[in-house]
Amino acid sequence: MTKYIFITGGVVSSLGKGIVAASLGRLFVSRGYKVSTQKFDPYINVDPGTMSPYQHGEVFVCDDGAETDLDLGHYERFLDKNLSRINNVTSGSVYQTVIEKERKGEYLGATVQMIPHITEEIKSRIKKAVTKDNPDILIVEIGGTVGDIEGLPFIEAIRQFKIEQGIANSLSLHVTLLPYLNTSGELKTKPTQHSVNVLRSYGIQPEMLVLRTQVPVEKSEKDKIALFCSVNKDCVIECKDMKSIYEVPLYLEKQGICDRICEILHLEKREPNLKNWEELVDRIHNPKREINIAIAGKYTSLNDAYLSVVESLHHTGFKTNTKINIKWIASDDIKSQNQVSELLKDTDGVIVPGGFGQRGIEGKLEIVRYARENNLPYLGLCLGMQCAVIEFARNVAGLSGANSEEFDKNVKYKVVHLMENQKNIEKLGATMRIGAYPCKLDKLSKSYSVYKTENISERHRHRYEFNNEYRKILTDKGLLIAGTSPNGELVEVIEYPKNDWFVAVQFHPEFKSRPDNPHPLFMGLVEACLKRAGK
Ligand code: GLN
Repeated sequence: MTKYIFITGGVVSSLGKGIVAASLGRLFVSRGYKVSTQKFDPYINVDPGTMSPYQHGEVFVCDDGAETDLDLGHYERFLDKNLSRINNVTSGSVYQTVIEKERKGEYLGATVQMIPHITEEIKSRIKKAVTKDNPDILIVEIGGTVGDIEGLPFIEAIRQFKIEQGIANSLSLHVTLLPYLNTSGELKTKPTQHSVNVLRSYGIQPEMLVLRTQVPVEKSEKDKIALFCSVNKDCVIECKDMKSIYEVPLYLEKQGICDRICEILHLEKREPNLKNWEELVDRIHNPKREINIAIAGKYTSLNDAYLSVVESLHHTGFKTNTKINIKWIASDDIKSQNQVSELLKDTDGVIVPGGFGQRGIEGKLEIVRYARENNLPYLGLCLGMQCAVIEFARNVAGLSGANSEEFDKNVKYKVVHLMENQKNIEKLGATMRIGAYPCKLDKLSKSYSVYKTENISERHRHRYEFNNEYRKILTDKGLLIAGTSPNGELVEVIEYPKNDWFVAVQFHPEFKSRPDNPHPLFMGLVEACLKRAGK
């Protein structure tokens, strides 16, 4: 029978509930439990696919093509498990289902209401996640902060769910902030007390609190919180800011969080096997060398916009005992090769990540040109491949002004374009080539040498494709088509073989990198950077 852990947040958002959820998942996996996770997002968008990265950070893509919250990336990385559409539920998707049912007359004349119709739909999503994964433990994280209007139906649904499943089968864990006041040198517990009061007013008494804090919390403070919030003393757990998110599972483990949860949920207490994870954290703390890698994008003021790319670089760093310093480059500001050479003078490699729209493209093309002409290791991701194709067409193949249809509809040399069968798609939501697609690599390519296999599967999220009309012209000039769809029609990987590492892919390898198993393409990049830096 599945046990449930419901995680809510209090006081402020961005507390790292997702990391707490993912860390708990890891701790139970390390005890041999089968764990799955689900994120509830109270906003009305059907999925985050149409949101600006500034609003929401990165859109994480699952194998099945679900466009999801970035917390699913944390879950996949910490649990080493692929998730899917059912693991991310938004208010928008819940309302959409209920309204569709209403239009079909499925409610048989009833007045359709928040309770029971919306709450029933939410509960049915929890059950679907259980049916799909059949986990011993399902961890459900409710996005936002307790008290948000949009979150109320989710809170009510989990209240009902707890009762229906039997009290001992589920647990509420509330993550809150203890603000530290510099002037008086104190941690304040009052916001936590208020937040728990709000949760209680909705009928949920948390069994466990996780306190987010900059500084260690004294036992006396924890006991006070326990008393005021009616939580057992040993269920008030501290979660201090850490240097690396991958330390969090070990920090929580030390405080016995899982044993307490096992007691509450009547689960067998088991010894965890955290040896690999401890080794990982040890490597994180003891790098033997450093390199600098630039990421050139247009959302550089919000690092979360490229979260999985950053994580993938770090994973590669863990494996190669290298501290990877990331240099953010705002591509809009770049106008010339001189400027690029100045910006990249201390970097050992560069990534152009995914993106949409024209802003910053010319700057990205300058970066690609610099990398290609100066043998600076380059990894292009999705838009980063399209830029590499445009740059090569313009500057090597002499197709002056070549561009992508996305940036110039009437351009003469449309080297990246919409394929015929995509032309009449008008809606923006969920209309891309998205999710996992197979790809076949050329055995003579650098990509093959790092993947060490011919047939790969990677996740996509884009509308435009390499234009096959230009295949011959570009390959005659030295571009290598290193990977295509199995039928050969879609170009998925290109390389510039003259360089040590110039690889660009139409997909997003960053979604599949794991802390203890970095992605081969990021390994290829980092190894080339290390070689170039003579390290
Ligand atoms: N804007 C490009 C396209 O839609 C690339 C998308 C991306 O980088 N994810 O094809």
